[in-house]
Amino acid sequence: MSFQKAYPKSMLQTFRERSETIGNCNECCRKTRLLACNHCNNAICCQESCSILFPHIADSLFVICNTCRTTIEEKIVTVIDYSKLILLKKKINKKRKLMI
Ligand SMILES: [Zn+2]
Ligand SMILES: [Zn+2]
Repeated sequence: MSFQKAYPKSMLQTFRERSETIGNCNECCRKTRLLACNHCNNAICCQESCSILFPHIADSLFVICNTCRTTIEEKIVTVIDYSKLILLKKKINKKRKLMI
């Protein structure tokens, strides 16, 4: 899973249209237009370093703040490691059977 780095202009425009609040971003502390993170509800701006935006149903946006992004990415890594572990166990089991 790779996160989009640069957002198309249409996406940033949707962000501005959807954003009803102007305040301080939870990530960069700048006063700008904000949207709530779909995960933790923290208000964040549309800067790439603060949030990840995904196109969502009915022309809306799915917004994830950078803090949640880090958490989610860590979870993904854990899941990958876990599946590798299962594969490794299977291989070890096969070797054992061969030895018997
Ligand atoms: Zn920000
Ligand atoms: Zn969040």
